[in-house]
Amino acid sequence: MAVKHPTCIYKGKRVSGKRAYRLSIKMIGFCLFKLPRKASRFKVHAKTCNRILHEIQDVGKEMATCITVSNQDGMFIAKDFIPTHNSVFCRNFLWRNMDAYPCFYFSSETSDTDFADYASRMTWAEPLRDGKPKFELIWRNKDWKDVIQPDAINIIDWLNLGDNFYQIGAVLEGIKERLNKGMCLIAIQKDPVKDLGMGGMWSEHLASLYLTMDFERLTVKKAKKWHGWNSNGKTYGFQIIDGGCHFANVRLLQKCACYGGKVRGVECATCKGTGFIDAPVR
Ligand SMILES: [Zn+2]
Repeated sequence: MAVKHPTCIYKGKRVSGKRAYRLSIKMIGFCLFKLPRKASRFKVHAKTCNRILHEIQDVGKEMATCITVSNQDGMFIAKDFIPTHNSVFCRNFLWRNMDAYPCFYFSSETSDTDFADYASRMTWAEPLRDGKPKFELIWRNKDWKDVIQPDAINIIDWLNLGDNFYQIGAVLEGIKERLNKGMCLIAIQKDPVKDLGMGGMWSEHLASLYLTMDFERLTVKKAKKWHGWNSNGKTYGFQIIDGGCHFANVRLLQKCACYGGKVRGVECATCKGTGFIDAPVR
């Protein structure tokens, strides 16, 4: 599917129309058209849309564990897979702010017990006040604008629109309208090979601060307001320790002299294929 911004000539002037979508449908060996002039233009694709099984290996008989999760879409993310960076960042952001501001944490994947488990290991701040959490943990996976708290810190871990990623602009707009003097930290998914998160520039243009996270790497894509040190375009390296609780070894990186982690098609030995090396300490 592609986004189109059509224009037309109206009363001698070129005017822009509403946003339009161009949908491409690929059919395998089956022609959708009956009209001969359309049917004659139908091409048979050699490739299949289906997944192909390449190999089956016998690994013997072992005890196994089945996993189901309470999450409605049944999705779970194992520890140390890239998306967990988001949650670690969100939880750390909460821990940094819960003493100073009212905080609301909207989560769609971390259960209360898992959250309590992380909290018990994030020992550098005390999450309870008089036996009650200093923040509100709310399970939510849609209609966020209805629950956003104005004049507070809202954290959405994470905003999943599934295939409707093109709606992100409208969803963010709805959230922003509710904030008043508050703010909202929103975690969205990012394809490791892409530069921006889900929805591309539609997710970026409303943000005051836009950070992207790749494996053990964070890049400041956009920081509208900064004081003293302009971090726009800077990349930082880090490690996550204590079972997904703690950012460690945070340092400024710079691009390696190789080309995207490769030297003549082979993994670069200097940056171990990451394309980044530690910047000299100033
Ligand atoms: Zn390199």
